[in-house]
Parts: sequence; structure tokens; C-alpha cells
Amino acid sequence: KKHNAGEKEFHQAVREVYEDILPYIADKPRYEKAAILERLTEPDRIIRFRVTWMDDNKKIHVNRAWRVQFNNSIGPYKGGLRFHPSVNAGILKFLGFEQTFKNALTSLPIGGAKGGSDFNPKGKSDSEIFRFCHSLMDELQRYIGEDTDIPAGDIGVGKREISYLFGQYKKLTNRFTGTITGKDINFGGSLIRTEATGYGLIYFVQNMLEEFDDDLEEKEVSISGSGNVALYACQKAMDLGAKVVTLSDSDGTIYDKEGIDREKFEFVKELKEVKYGRIKEYADEFSCEYLEGETPWSIPCDIALPCATQNEVDLSSAKTLLKNGLMLLAEGANMPCSADATRLLRDSDVLYAPGKASNAGGVAVSGLEISQNELRMSWSAEEVNDRLQSIMKEIHKKCKEHGEDDDGNIDYMKGANIAGFKKVADAMLAFGPV
Ligand code: NDP
Repeated sequence: KKHNAGEKEFHQAVREVYEDILPYIADKPRYEKAAILERLTEPDRIIRFRVTWMDDNKKIHVNRAWRVQFNNSIGPYKGGLRFHPSVNAGILKFLGFEQTFKNALTSLPIGGAKGGSDFNPKGKSDSEIFRFCHSLMDELQRYIGEDTDIPAGDIGVGKREISYLFGQYKKLTNRFTGTITGKDINFGGSLIRTEATGYGLIYFVQNMLEEFDDDLEEKEVSISGSGNVALYACQKAMDLGAKVVTLSDSDGTIYDKEGIDREKFEFVKELKEVKYGRIKEYADEFSCEYLEGETPWSIPCDIALPCATQNEVDLSSAKTLLKNGLMLLAEGANMPCSADATRLLRDSDVLYAPGKASNAGGVAVSGLEISQNELRMSWSAEEVNDRLQSIMKEIHKKCKEHGEDDDGNIDYMKGANIAGFKKVADAMLAFGPV
């Protein structure tokens, strides 16, 4: 703790994992002897640098940026870049730590990393975003590479930002490589990558429901956020017969009692991906309820999918969801449930999936993008989607293998933590004390 003072999200993420790992390794002294927990908790390195950029009025700004290269025991560092004013070293360490376990769960050879900047993209012009991305890449390019560290997108970093970042990387290095994932299909991207985290989340939910011979048909689904993960979770849930009743952003929540249909989905997709608008415009367009400044968790639903940000479901939201008859919560965002909300959900009868398992579809397809880049090939949407589905099925299987008790109840958090740990820790043991 004294080494990571004030990094509360990092403490939360480590505690959440080690509460399951400590009992698991109690009769396996090899891990303790090799100080695996201490080594796993300390990032391999953290790079911090200044990003200077000029706004449209020629005013100069200085932001901080980081790359946390957490663990490369099973493959090159891999994890997204986040642009958000809340970004700091502690948040990126929690995300890099989680990423290490998540990437291990995908069965692909990718290590864990995370990066980003406290730059706030909201309200910035296209040319300001362009100049910021270029300035950031001027420095970041020294530390990344297709066999070293392969960044991707996250909050505030979508297709547009990835294109600016990759364009500058390619120019500076004079090499066309798969060093960044989430690229456009025209220059080395993978089909289904945009959709992958949201689709993967719903495939995981399908696997959870199948345990009870149940499916998504006619389930009421509440989704938070209206970014990349939220949108494609919404689309796939709709496709499978669910009724999605909420979406949100940091200003408020729309509650559409009729459910979002295809026409409304196309509106919100354009609103968020092309116009960078606010979710309130959906309520104005389709005359549905808008809950200003509120999250979706007061609204009754069968399935809750938090897809916005960390700690967005607090204890009182979790209690309300349970009181309103929740049957399943699966995390699209990283660590969206606070520690006490997570505890409550794990101790209840509700099915609960942690992000490191249920949102791993995005990084899995990023891994497939790397494979396609190395092969200089492009797989069809069907092929990538089939692989995504089988990866999510396999993650579900691993959670079950390590998280099922004698009564057949699955603790997905425990299963994911142990399966991810085992793979990374065993690789570290094999390398010796390095
Ligand atoms: P986007 O930037 O595309 O969307 C984020 C959404 O969440 C926006 O609607 C945003 O609203 C909302 N949001 C962000 N911060 C807050 C906040 N502090 N309070 C309320 N709402 C907020 O990001 P993504 O969809 O890519 O990522 C969402 C989550 O999923 C993150 O936790 C990310 O780490 C995780 N994730 C993403 C993956 C991916 O492939 N993109 C993969 C795996 C996990 P607003 O516009 O108002 O800020």
C-alpha cells in the first residue's frame, strides 16, 4: 500500500483479484517462494511524458500522458489508450493490472498494458484532436512496436483517434506494421473489431443464460454509456430478441419504455459516432423519458450491462437493482461496480460476470487483428465473428472450471481470477526470478 499511496482504484482491483488468489495458492508454495504476487502487482515499467499541443486559437496546452507496460510474460504488452480528464497513474495501473488477467483469459499470446492522457476530448475540434494525437505519438512511438507493445482504443479513443495515431506512427517509423489495433478496415483493421467488445459481452451473457436453458428473448436490458461498448452491446442484444430500455452518457440517461428498435439504433449510432452528440438528443427525437444527471440503475430490468466507466454502480445502485428483480449483471466496462456493490452481487442469487471475463471480446479481436496483420490477410466478418464467439465460450468454460462450487453455482469472478492468474503466474515461474 505504501508503494501505491492514493491509488484507490489500483488497490481495489488488486484486492478483488488477490481475495480469490490467496486461498487458491495456499497449498501451492511455489508461487509464494517465487514472490509471484509481489511481481504481478508491480508494473514492468511506467513511462510518463509531456504532450504539448496548440488549440485552434493558437493557445498552447500541456497534458500528461502515460504508458503502463504491466506484464509481458505471455506476449507483447497490449491494452488501450484512454483520453479522459480523470486519467492518472493509479487508474492506468488498475486498468493494466486487469488487462493482464483479461488477456490471459482470451488464450491469445498477449501481455497486459494500458495508457492514455488526462486530455479531455470533449468539445475539441477535429483539428485539435488531430494535433493532440500527433504530439502524443511523437513520444509514444519510442516505446511501442508490433513485438513490444501494441496499443488500442478505450474511453475517448475511437476510430478517428486511432487513425490519427496510426498515421503519425507510420510516418515517424517509416514502417507499416500492426503496432496499433482498432484500425480502419482499409489500412489493416479487422472486421468486427468495432463491434467486438459489445458483441462479446452479449455472447458471454448468452453462455451464462444457457446454463439455465434460458436466453435473451424478451429480457429487459439496461445499458449505461452510449460509446463503443454500449452501442454494440445494444445492437446484439436487440438482434437476439431483448428489449433494451436505457442508454446514458455523463449528462444523463434515456429511458425508452418501448425499447430501442433498429431505426432508433441507427439514429443513436450516428449521433454518437459521427456527430459526437449528447444522449439527450435521443429523448428529444423519440419523445422518451430523460433522467438528467442520473445513471440507469433506478430503472427495473432483468439484465444490467454497465458499459461506461469504473465504479459507476455503487452499493445503493446495486441494492436498487436487486430490489427491482435483477437476474444478471455483466460488466462491459472495466470495474464498473464498486467493491461493496461487487460483494453484494457476488453474495446474492444474481448471475454476475466481471469485466475481465465478459468484456474480453474487444481485446480478443484486437489479437485477431494482430494475427491478420502478421499474415497480411483479412478474414471475413463471419470468420472473425465465429472466432469471437468461440473465444467467449472458452472464457466462460474457464470461469466455470475454476469458479463452480459443489452445488453447481458459478462464481465468475473467482473463476476468471484464478484462470487468468494461473496462466500468467506459471509463465513467470518458468522464467525464474527475472
Ligand atoms: P467510449 O469513450 O466510446 O464511451 C464511453 C461512454 O461512457 C460514453 O457514453 C461516456 O459518456 C460514458 N462515460 C465515460 N466516463 C463517464 C463517467 N465518468 N461518468 C458517466 N459516464 C461516463 O468508451 P468505450 O465504450 O470504449 O469504453 C467504455 C468502458 O468499456 C470503459 O470502462 C473501457 O475501459 C471498457 N472497455 C472498452 C473496450 C473497447 O473495446 N472499447 C474493451 C474493454 C473494455 P460521455 O461521452 O458523456 O463522457
